[in-house]
Amino acid sequence: MTDRRDFLKKLAVFGGALGLSPIAVSRMVGAEEAKLVKNSPQDSCFINNETARMVSTWNHGILANAEGFKALEKGGSAMDMIEAAARLVEEDAEGISVGIGGLPDRDGNVTLDACCMDHKGRAGSVCFMQDIMYPLSVARKVMEETPHVMLAGEGARQFAIEQGFTPTNLLTEKAHAAWENWKEKSQYKPIINIENHDTIGILALDKKGRLAGGCTTSGLAYKMHGRVGDSPIIGAGLFVDGEVGAATATGLGEAVIRTVGSFLVVELMRSGMDPQKACETAVKRIMDRMDTSNLQVGYLALDKQGRYGAHAIHNGFNYAVTTLKYSNITEELIDSTWG
Ligand code: ASP
Repeated sequence: MTDRRDFLKKLAVFGGALGLSPIAVSRMVGAEEAKLVKNSPQDSCFINNETARMVSTWNHGILANAEGFKALEKGGSAMDMIEAAARLVEEDAEGISVGIGGLPDRDGNVTLDACCMDHKGRAGSVCFMQDIMYPLSVARKVMEETPHVMLAGEGARQFAIEQGFTPTNLLTEKAHAAWENWKEKSQYKPIINIENHDTIGILALDKKGRLAGGCTTSGLAYKMHGRVGDSPIIGAGLFVDGEVGAATATGLGEAVIRTVGSFLVVELMRSGMDPQKACETAVKRIMDRMDTSNLQVGYLALDKQGRYGAHAIHNGFNYAVTTLKYSNITEELIDSTWG
């Protein structure tokens, strides 16, 4: 693992010299380091005051988790880990599916969705929000500073500005060019293929055994103006129960909303399933009800004991696991496949 950490450091320096963002470097790391496993490990984290674990969707999860652990080192909570991890991905202008740089809707507007939830069942969410770079931080403010769970659209934007967030143009040249290109054919197909969805869903268990989760995205590319996916919806894109576990989703939000996916995964864990089996069962629920030949959904779960699991309709979904155990940090990028 030390070799790998050295490799990551060298790659970060090399990538920086090439002008690549940390997340772009993480994508290279993913290509180099992805490990194929048939079933996710079920090792328990044996939570005590020297252990913690973080799991996040997709390649960008590796560097996001590292950022989360920096927050933990500074004395932060599981929710601080989630927010720090999310911010790293949200501010990466190279990423085309989260925060600045996200692909716009069919009318050229970047609209963001995000939510967070903690071990006490407190939750905050923003959806269809424009011009604000850190939607998960705004969702956290909704959770902590208001009596509400969800703010939408212009109301969310106004609230963010009142809370000190600076309005920013989120449509990068790269995303604008991609949209112009899309407009030539303007095919509106509300499907998600394997390459076209990398919302980050993040789950953390801190040294005190507190669970938290977050989910942040620019949503489906070229969606209808006003479309909101699963990612900001508590129970769909994210659910946390401090006594049981946490789950998050990525993929076609409509399929996740229709099956209340993340809540289902947590409830299955409550009934005794381990995280892997719970994710497989929630995926099967979608497959039993819908034609999934053209859509992808992946679930990722972490339970109160620190066990984790993931599953997706199609191969191609991966996630990052970072564990602190007795002062040693280990990182893994795992492909979720049919066993
Ligand atoms: N779940 C997101 C949505 O439907 C998309 C994604 O995972 O990238 O908006």
